[in-house]
Amino acid sequence: MDNNQPICQCCGMPLDETTFSTEPDGTVNKEYCKWCYADGKFTYDDMETLINFCAEHMATEEFPAEQMRAYMSEMLPKLKHWKEI
Ligand SMILES: [Zn+2]
Repeated sequence: MDNNQPICQCCGMPLDETTFSTEPDGTVNKEYCKWCYADGKFTYDDMETLINFCAEHMATEEFPAEQMRAYMSEMLPKLKHWKEI
């Protein structure tokens, strides 16, 4: 994995200054994106919810929902957030 490109440890999306999450005290948390983690809480309690959300909202013609689902089911278990639970 490319260490120069941080990715969200919950959903796997690439992170930058505009997408990092913040702690309730305003500290930047560079491990999660602002959609997965906000105000000290995680948005998704289980992997299935996250996969369904992404399959519905991020699918494109080149990357249809079923393919998105398969890709995420493969990738998510490797991320830190899902390894810990
Ligand atoms: Zn995320």
